[in-house]
Amino acid sequence: MSDTFKALLLTESDDGVTAAVTDLTTDDLPEGNVTVAVEYSTLNYKDGMVVNGNIGRLARKFPHVPGIDFAGTVEASDDARYKPGDKVVLTGWRVGEMFWGGYAQKARVNADWLVPLPAGLSPRHAMTVGTAGLTAMLCIQALEDHGMKPGDGPVLVTGAAGGVGSVAVAILANLGYEVAGSTGRPEQADYLKDLGATQIVPREALAEPTKKPLEGETWAGCVDTVAGTVLARTMGQMKYGASIACCGLASGPKLDTTVVPLLLRGVNLLGIDSVMQPYDNRLRAWNRIVDVLPMEKLDAMAETCGLGDLPAKAKDILAGQVRGRLVVDVN
Ligand code: NDP
Repeated sequence: MSDTFKALLLTESDDGVTAAVTDLTTDDLPEGNVTVAVEYSTLNYKDGMVVNGNIGRLARKFPHVPGIDFAGTVEASDDARYKPGDKVVLTGWRVGEMFWGGYAQKARVNADWLVPLPAGLSPRHAMTVGTAGLTAMLCIQALEDHGMKPGDGPVLVTGAAGGVGSVAVAILANLGYEVAGSTGRPEQADYLKDLGATQIVPREALAEPTKKPLEGETWAGCVDTVAGTVLARTMGQMKYGASIACCGLASGPKLDTTVVPLLLRGVNLLGIDSVMQPYDNRLRAWNRIVDVLPMEKLDAMAETCGLGDLPAKAKDILAGQVRGRLVVDVN
């Protein structure tokens, strides 16, 4: 029986990085102690950078299989924690960057990087959540761990129509928070309201720098996915003692601001990383997602594509043109 499977393979030449759907065999897979039959992966912002060849320090060795997350079924395992037939999910650990990832029908990885698929979540739903959705949950957990609770006032989500933003809006609304979504796409206002936002803040309202380090106290919390001027302005608009979960840089990595909101209003800037997140906190976040993210909201933010669509979709996500979550059906 042939062990050939399909993968989106990146190769490098003098002309740059090229992505093409290619047949591989299990002998081509890298070392690892668990082999997974992948069912779904997703397109995250970081995947857009890798597939598009904006490699930076993300992926350096070619040929390379991108895809920073996947869900599927264990096919073979040399690790006592997993056996054939187990459903698993993987996010982070530099899979899809330094190591081969989920844009393939098979993946071989280190068992330490896997999490058992939480009961109540299908592989497709797990990947509709994906790295972006897990990060949204990590942000909300961090905000709550720092005292945010429903009834404190509106919570701002920036880059709201993107992947992290959409999941954050849906979870916060379901938890009973008043949610304000900041977006540069006014045509997505109804989409965001359907997910649970009650207020839409145009991106332009936060895009111009101000000399005033403090503005009116408005937000009881913030999930920030864009950084830059939007984050700088938001810092000056936080309520006394409120926190911002800072997880993204969709507008670029710069943050030109002052420490005044931190010193005079006790604002907390919380850094959120999903990649090296310890196992126990990952599990906590995945299990919480099952409880607090309505599946019909998750379905409403998802589109599906195949491996061959990814090069074009990678350009779209870098241009801020993907709405919600793009699930990749690798089969
Ligand atoms: P998406 O592209 O799906 O969402 C990003 C959103 O940001 C866009 O939809 C758009 O929202 C907004 N945006 C895009 N360009 C700009 C701009 N120039 N200025 C202001 N806003 C902009 O990406 P993801 O949701 O997958 O990821 C969001 C960010 O979070 C990325 O920077 C990503 O790298 C980061 N991230 C970090 C993780 C971590 O572990 N810390 C994990 C996952 C993601 P709208 O149209 O609504 O304005």
